[in-house]
Amino acid sequence: MLSRTIFLSHFFLKTDMDNPTEINSVFWNEEKKSWDHKMIKVEEYHGFVECQQCRRPLSHNIKTDGEFKVVYVECGCSRR
Ligand SMILES: [Zn+2]
Repeated sequence: MLSRTIFLSHFFLKTDMDNPTEINSVFWNEEKKSWDHKMIKVEEYHGFVECQQCRRPLSHNIKTDGEFKVVYVECGCSRR
């Protein structure tokens, strides 16, 4: 029973956005006056917040450069 629970939680962790090593974050570029992208290295992955509309990740909770950060990404409905 216990090993089954561990297997299942491991399984969900793996399928749940399978711990990305890099995230293509979106941010407002003040110089260009437009949205820009930047690859952010993921040291530790701590899950994501999903978009209420398209159910895709909207932001990821990660550790990068020794700091915990919330990294925003483009969800499915932010693309025009
Ligand atoms: Zn969305």
